[in-house]
Amino acid sequence: MHALSLKAKTALVTGSTSGIGLGIARSLAAEGANIVFNGFGDINEIQVLQTAVESEFGVQTAYHNADMSKAGEIEAMMQFAASKFGGVDILVNNAGIQYVANIEDFPVEKWDAIIAINLTSSFHTTRLALPYMKQKNWGRIINLASVHGLVASAQKSAYVAAKHGLIGFTKTTALETAQTGITCNAICPGWVLTPLVQKQVDDRAAKEGVDNDTAKKRLLAEKQPSGEFVTPEQLGALAVFFCSEAGQQIRGVAWNMDGGWVAQ
Ligand code: NAD
Repeated sequence: MHALSLKAKTALVTGSTSGIGLGIARSLAAEGANIVFNGFGDINEIQVLQTAVESEFGVQTAYHNADMSKAGEIEAMMQFAASKFGGVDILVNNAGIQYVANIEDFPVEKWDAIIAINLTSSFHTTRLALPYMKQKNWGRIINLASVHGLVASAQKSAYVAAKHGLIGFTKTTALETAQTGITCNAICPGWVLTPLVQKQVDDRAAKEGVDNDTAKKRLLAEKQPSGEFVTPEQLGALAVFFCSEAGQQIRGVAWNMDGGWVAQ
């Protein structure tokens, strides 16, 4: 078997209908993994991206639209994955949202939603996926944290708290699975030009009265020394590496891919 082959593995990627999750799902499919997609979006568009992955990579896909803020829906999604593919071998906790405001203006319901979707959902998916992984003594859990899991930015209190928490949860999961074939690691991207960041670019362009390209350059210039966006494909390649045999003893790391952001 090719060292990196993920043939016959099942990967559940939360929030994989766009952006980074979609990029990681495609990279895992390219190595042979069947994919359970999750996330919101137009059902016809989701079917189009499923068909594209199936025909491009010769894998099977399924889709479940569980809301990651709801424990009951996450349980139903795991049962769906088990009924379709017999379990989950690779779990990518990627679904995430963002809100920007000073602490005293931060809406309580936004705080609760960010903690639920960006942090608590990973507890639920992990506790439900581990029994399947333990049966096979093989598994890979990859948590999409952020540079904001390592350093803070003002006006992002809930996001920063959730991502720091997710890194702590990653390390704990790695320790609890240390003597098994299951690994758990976090990926910490810097700026990636997905719909989540495009909104920040648009807001900034409007606020500062500049065009989109200038807003993008300003965003990068402030934090990301490379001056370039990280891409979903680059993050997908890192996820594939974590899934490979070479990744077997990489446990509990928070690996930044950030164009130099946290090196400053
Ligand atoms: P995105 O907005 O492009 O995609 C988010 C995905 O999550 C979508 O598929 C969306 O449908 C799904 N989603 C949102 N709320 C959901 C919910 N309640 N239940 C189920 N699915 C839900 O965002 P992205 O930029 O691709 O971000 C993906 C992850 O990467 C997030 O956890 C984000 O915090 C993290 N991240 C992003 C960046 C960046 O620069 N884009 C940087 C660091 C970390």
